[in-house]
Amino acid sequence: MSTYAAPLKDMQFVIEELVGLADITAMPACSEVTPDVIEAVLGEAAKFAAEVLDPLNRSGDVQGAQLTDGKVTPPRGFAEAYQQFTAAGWNSLAGQTEFGGQGLPHVVAMPVQEMWNSANMAFCLCPMLTSGVLEALTIRGSPAQQKMFMPKLISGEWTGTMNLTESQAGSDLSAVRTRAVPEGDHYRIHGTKIFITWGEHDMSRNIIHLVLARTPDAPEGVKGISLFIVPKFLVNADGSLGARNDVKCVSIEHKMGIHASPTCVLSYGDGEGAIGYLVGEENRGLEYMFIMMNHARLGVGLEGVALAERAYQHAREYAKTRVQGRAIGQKSGDRVTIIHHPDVRRMLLTMKSQIEAMRALAYTASAALDKSRHHPDEKERRRNQAYVDLLIPIVKGWCTEQSIEVASTGVQIHGGMGFIEETGATQYLRDARITAIYEGTTGIQAADLVGRKVGYEKGATAFAVIGEMRGLDAELARSQNTDITAQRDNFKHAVEGLAVATQWVVDTFPKDPNAVAAVSVPYLMLWGTVAGGWMMARAALLADAKLAAGTGDADFYRTKIATARFYAEHILPQADCLATEVVSGAASVLALTEAQF
Ligand SMILES: Cc1cc2nc3c(=O)[nH]c(=O)nc-3n(C[C@H](O)[C@H](O)[C@H](O)COP(=O)(O)OP(=O)(O)OC[C@H]3O[C@@H](n4cnc5c(N)ncnc54)[C@H](O)[C@@H]3O)c2cc1C
Repeated sequence: MSTYAAPLKDMQFVIEELVGLADITAMPACSEVTPDVIEAVLGEAAKFAAEVLDPLNRSGDVQGAQLTDGKVTPPRGFAEAYQQFTAAGWNSLAGQTEFGGQGLPHVVAMPVQEMWNSANMAFCLCPMLTSGVLEALTIRGSPAQQKMFMPKLISGEWTGTMNLTESQAGSDLSAVRTRAVPEGDHYRIHGTKIFITWGEHDMSRNIIHLVLARTPDAPEGVKGISLFIVPKFLVNADGSLGARNDVKCVSIEHKMGIHASPTCVLSYGDGEGAIGYLVGEENRGLEYMFIMMNHARLGVGLEGVALAERAYQHAREYAKTRVQGRAIGQKSGDRVTIIHHPDVRRMLLTMKSQIEAMRALAYTASAALDKSRHHPDEKERRRNQAYVDLLIPIVKGWCTEQSIEVASTGVQIHGGMGFIEETGATQYLRDARITAIYEGTTGIQAADLVGRKVGYEKGATAFAVIGEMRGLDAELARSQNTDITAQRDNFKHAVEGLAVATQWVVDTFPKDPNAVAAVSVPYLMLWGTVAGGWMMARAALLADAKLAAGTGDADFYRTKIATARFYAEHILPQADCLATEVVSGAASVLALTEAQF
């Protein structure tokens, strides 16, 4: 079993060089995030991930969470790890300073979160959901609610959950039926929520559930859903814990992966009704959820990056130790480790180059999220918000789908042993599978991309980004490095394919949205593939400049340039097929009648 080692050099390269730390620190709200601070935070996080979380990953998978008499017990060691996690202040990293948080920007919290997910995604889901609740309270909580709930959620003394899904309401949340009946200064909640991650456990003293429900006279559909805070234990005015609320866990799911994370069915109001407090205004719950979704979807996209990285490290170690066959052309002599076989190298480089491209894109999106909130110039805030809005479904959809491919390639590199549970490679594949489903399936991300994003604004932001991509060609052309100029043709071709496909989406969406929906996932994958190539080409140019200046780790920069060339030659050509699929493939998707399936 390999040990997780955080890819610190690549993380720092992406934040400091590719994303441009100077742009972040130039914003008054983020001025304290110097390279020294980043190095210290990432270094400590890497240790915690490797020494505390990673060793619990496999045992957590084997043991799983257990439900006995309504009580959920996480696997051995998880509660202790959670205490260490909160005591070390990791839960409060991105929390607001006025409520005890450390106020670090997303772009610094991202690599830290990537580490937790690589080391132990099932564990990480618990603090991740808490940060989702914090996001909601920050955006729409009343001052009294913020004061009552935020400090303990930020410290990690309490954890949070998101309660959206019901058996008839998954992708379509307008079908939510949970009821909220007003009673004095609160509401009584009745209903059943399914698939609630970390919905019940004993790692924290209280759990704060955010619940979507309908008030009695609410209009049908999306416009009649409200958002409520429902604590597991009611909270007294002085902040101490009161009576147990009327919510209980009735079962937990047996799943394909993330076994250590309890996925709960929660029953609200079996007695007199669970006490809940309205967040913001009635009937605006889904609207609030959408505001929070950027944060949550970015977090899930990052889970994809993290699991792919972990699968890569596992496969790389195996490839360097497994002896099998001789080098091509050698009929005698020593047998070699499988990393000497060109096809194994191709698989490893496919994994490595995809991961670096995905990481760069995810961190770029998080930096834009920071700028959309903290940039002093209103115009820049708006420009970055539009950029984030475009990138989020791509990061979520593309990174998670790719993580499944990458983890599967990791299994392949292990040969037969990859299929055996004890080897550990299958866990990454099993865990990765959910990332493309929850927080909106890939189909839902693609619908968002073609509808609410590209279609709605007639491609304005999409073409602005494509314009930036086109601008890179001149820089690639100027390079003296043949490993960089060799990327030019494929990159240019891929960007033009994206432009043609985007124009098709813009033209077709108003008259035939069904046709656009039929090829929306290939369009999303096209975006990811090309944006990944854009990131890698930019990374290669920056690495080359560093080499020319003679600063930094020359070996890292040379490896980056070679990896970018691999991406341009082996991954970017897929853009051509995807663009063709988008502009000419819709009719055949829609050709069969229901009976013909
Ligand atoms: C392990 C796990 C943890 C989860 N954690 C949470 C949690 O903490 N909180 C929470 O509230 N929920 C949670 N969920 C629920 C999760 O978000 C939903 O399962 C997911 O949104 C999909 O909904 P569904 O399962 O009802 O599938 P459906 O919505 O029935 O979708 C089935 C298929 O139809 C497709 N589809 C549906 N509608 C459309 C459409 N309009 N356009 C295109 N394709 C469409 C989907 O892409 C999918 O392929 C969790 C689920 C799991 C399995």
